[in-house]
Amino acid sequence: MKTYKIATIPGDGIGKEVVPAGQQVLEALAAGNGQFKFEFENFDWGGDYFRQHGVMMPEDGLDALRDKDAILFGSAGDPHIPDHITLWGLRLKICQGFDQYANVRPTRILPGIDGPLKRCKTEDLDWVIVRENSEGEYSGVGGRVHQGHPIEAATDVSMMTRVGVERIMRFAFKLAQSRPRKLLTVITKSNAQRHAMVMWDEIALQVSREFSDVTWDKELVDASTARMINRPASLDTIVATNLHADILSDLAAALAGSLGIAPTGNIDPEHRYPSMFEPIHGSAFDIMGKGLANPVGTFWSVVMLLDHLGETEAARRVMRAIEQVTANPALHTRDLGGNATTADVTQAVCGQLFASS
Ligand code: ATP
Ligand code: MG
Repeated sequence: MKTYKIATIPGDGIGKEVVPAGQQVLEALAAGNGQFKFEFENFDWGGDYFRQHGVMMPEDGLDALRDKDAILFGSAGDPHIPDHITLWGLRLKICQGFDQYANVRPTRILPGIDGPLKRCKTEDLDWVIVRENSEGEYSGVGGRVHQGHPIEAATDVSMMTRVGVERIMRFAFKLAQSRPRKLLTVITKSNAQRHAMVMWDEIALQVSREFSDVTWDKELVDASTARMINRPASLDTIVATNLHADILSDLAAALAGSLGIAPTGNIDPEHRYPSMFEPIHGSAFDIMGKGLANPVGTFWSVVMLLDHLGETEAARRVMRAIEQVTANPALHTRDLGGNATTADVTQAVCGQLFASS
């Protein structure tokens, strides 16, 4: 029997509630299907680890993850530690260390969930946002001089490389090609940013020639926010830079009903290193420890993890179970207007896995 090695990194806040819930679903899946099993190893990195050791994860932490088939991540963020430390010290360290250059965020309105777009039919909103995850605005290049003086200055350089843009464009075109509508929108801001974004546009055009069956267009990032609300059905696959996609995908998650249901994958498409899957929400300390966290974003991340492992049948099974559970308002957590707890939803999804087959 095949065994997949999975690293779990719950991190901070509600990450400690939703990641064990995700593990429970994977365990229930393995118990029921008898074709593969999982070997979990848990890593207690994050804010508490930082308070003890002065770092979010050990220096050689990546080595402990290297032989895993995938990583299930919760959230890194702690109200008592500056955000740039929690972010760069753990999540980005893993993303960059394992060159997970494609961040993939599917968005759909799940059955039973009411999005804020009242005019929008459920099937009108079915997007996958591909976020460049290794460079651009978050390349870390920049500096600060003359601190505290009137002439103080600081820069964050948005650095894009030809290799980096080409590989994310190729990934996005390929993904668009694999979806029924074969539709890609390239988000840009080349009207105002005259260097890197112009190269971004040029490379999009160049890569598009390899995918003659994909219909694609270009949209300015500002205009795209209005389009997401006014003409959601005109979008399908979307590719954007690190910063642009960061913002657009939070908007997308909100339009789908809640931050709590949206998943993401940090993917190394070449399978050289483990890829990492996580809900898009943060640590949400305001609801921590109360059983209020919606685990659906983590379960959907589990679906992506299974797909990445090539277990598409199992992935579909988990997705069906999620949709059966969201369709029932009695199983909605508070963020969706219900009273169900994290444990209620987890139990229900596990119970649905093999219910209808
Ligand atoms: P971080 O600083 O790590 O980003 P955060 O406290 O800003 O964490 P977010 O994840 O950005 O939290 O979420 C904002 C708010 O949305 C939370 O404070 C919480 O009330 C709500 N929320 C987020 N995720 C969930 C979830 N899974 N279930 C229920 N509510 C959620
Ligand atoms: Mg936040």
